[in-house]
Amino acid sequence: MIDDPLTILVVEDDEIDRMAVRRALKKAEVDFVMVETETCQGALEQLTRTRFDCVFLDYRLPDGNGLDLIRTIRDRQIKIPLIALTGQGDEQIAVELMKAGASDYLSKSKVSPDTLCRSLFSAVRVYSAEQEAQEANQRLLESEERYRLVVEGSHDGIWDWDLQRQTIYGNDRLLAIVGFSPNAVVITPKLILKLLHPDDRPYLLHLVQEHLKGRAEFALEFRIRHQSGEYHYCTVRGKAQRDRTGTPFRLSGVVSDITERKRTEERSRFLASATTLLSATLDYQTTLKNLAHLIVPHLADWCTINLAEPNKSPHLIAVAHVHPEQETLVWQLQGDNRTPQTTQVFQTGQSVACFEVSPALLSELSVSPQQQDLLTQLKFSSYICVPLRTRERILGSILCVWGQSSRHYNQEELEFIEDLAYRAALAIENARLYKEAQEAARMKAQFLAMMSHELRTPMNAIIGFSQVLLRQRSGTLTRRQIQMIESIHNNGKNLLTLINDILDLSKIEAHHLILKPEILNLEQLVATTLDSLRPLADEKQLPLCLESQLQDSKILNDRDRLRQILINLLSNALKFTETGQITITLREIPPHHIQIVVQDSGIGIAPDQQAYIFDEFRQVDQTTTRKYSGTGLGLTITKSLVDLMGGTITVESQLEQGSVFCVTLPRHLASTT
Ligand code: ADP
Repeated sequence: MIDDPLTILVVEDDEIDRMAVRRALKKAEVDFVMVETETCQGALEQLTRTRFDCVFLDYRLPDGNGLDLIRTIRDRQIKIPLIALTGQGDEQIAVELMKAGASDYLSKSKVSPDTLCRSLFSAVRVYSAEQEAQEANQRLLESEERYRLVVEGSHDGIWDWDLQRQTIYGNDRLLAIVGFSPNAVVITPKLILKLLHPDDRPYLLHLVQEHLKGRAEFALEFRIRHQSGEYHYCTVRGKAQRDRTGTPFRLSGVVSDITERKRTEERSRFLASATTLLSATLDYQTTLKNLAHLIVPHLADWCTINLAEPNKSPHLIAVAHVHPEQETLVWQLQGDNRTPQTTQVFQTGQSVACFEVSPALLSELSVSPQQQDLLTQLKFSSYICVPLRTRERILGSILCVWGQSSRHYNQEELEFIEDLAYRAALAIENARLYKEAQEAARMKAQFLAMMSHELRTPMNAIIGFSQVLLRQRSGTLTRRQIQMIESIHNNGKNLLTLINDILDLSKIEAHHLILKPEILNLEQLVATTLDSLRPLADEKQLPLCLESQLQDSKILNDRDRLRQILINLLSNALKFTETGQITITLREIPPHHIQIVVQDSGIGIAPDQQAYIFDEFRQVDQTTTRKYSGTGLGLTITKSLVDLMGGTITVESQLEQGSVFCVTLPRHLASTT
């Protein structure tokens, strides 16, 4: 059992007795080292210095007695087997020695190798067993402390359900999840069932049964009622422990409160739906009604929205209640007067809120007994009233109330509803601005259509009469007069083109331009258009080339509008090119498209300008002293027409190198509108 020699301390003032002990041990062939001392003092010094396996001590010592020595040793927490050597007839003393902490006693007269060894080994064995037990106990205590720290320090609720006794141990956190302070309640399966959301009870019970039968994992999400009345979202994971026969005897696991995460998710989802809803229609009255129904039940048991429309006093526009039959009560509540909360919000532009409305406050808030009665019926227990405001003005207010669900608002919800109201206000303002802009655009288009129409009649007369004058070359007009009439005629034609462009643009903007498709030969159309422009090209000595790669040049399109596109692109090419040539290429883009590419070797367009040239009245050179004439409408009309035809137009250009305009069109117009 013990490999090293035993270290033994003998406290004995009688040399003979010490020798007797030594001899007995030797005889018994004990492997030992013996230290001897004659006094209590010496013994204590030895014991503090050296670690002994056993002490033999005499009762009567020169500086005290063995009993006191044993007490001192035990008081000093020195753990060592102590065997008292007593004189004959000292039985009473022996009893006292044992009480004081001696491991054994031995009458000196009976010291023999056998008795000594028996006593020695038994004391050492008992002592080492005690030591081991003590160490194991210590280790257990430490591990329990570690476990307790883990359990109590955990952010999760830890539970342990004893299936036989039907008791549940839960840590403090588990209680905190449902709003109880530590040790406030005894957790029982019944209590848990009571707190569970009724909709979640059946599935949880089912899963417990399935898990105990070994057929399913025990992991699920559920809702549990907090002391505040609100339901908290939790996840639970657990595992059954089974005996040797496989019968479960306990089920334990972890519960995590995921309410915050759920709320954030819910809010993002809510905001996404609200954003979609707010941008769904420009009819803001409908939008606000829908918004009220979105707020209930997510953010309120009932809610009202007041709107202050321009030149009208604020009025109730939307009401929603979790129980729609109660909506009439809310309408009644407001009646002709606004609620005090709404009035305050309209006056200050700031939110007002009371997270917990006491009965006393309820009567204070009511403007009349009838209103108090209605507020009581509607269980006005917590409210938030926020303004619908833009930077400039207050457009309305949203009143959100928790009633029968007994929930209460908090600061975070107030901020969330304020954010929602801000978005709603922006949507209302945008809808209003859009309507105004649309109205302005409609008025502008109407004005342009009317003006250009009115201008066309006199302009046609000017062109017509100047033409008549020019034809009468009977000599009545001088050369100078002919030049002047030619100028009148040309300028008149330019003005008419401009007027027609403006008229076209106003028609396009008002969606009044209707395409009239017909089957036509694109190649022929391009050729005749080129011919009509050839005199201009000849003036600048610019070759106008047509390169057709079409197998089939029949297309379905509006002849006049297509010619208009060609003329716009070709006249720009002619206008902005001095040398080189202008080429128009026709291509097929299988299966259903054709492409018209107008390429010139002119001045080109700077990259930063290329995105803007299709905008109305936009020219690269916007100065009044510009070299090239034009209104900046040609490409706008061209692009609008191409769009209307279901096609696309692109430009590629390099300064001083030239430009390439590429129009891609469906071979057959999709519809005639
Ligand atoms: P404009 O009546 O000024 O020609 P457009 O809308 O047809 O109006 O063209 C807008 C502007 O785009 C022009 O003023 C010119 O700066 C530029 N642009 C159009 N086509 C060409 C081209 N082929 N080469 C160079 N610049 C061009």
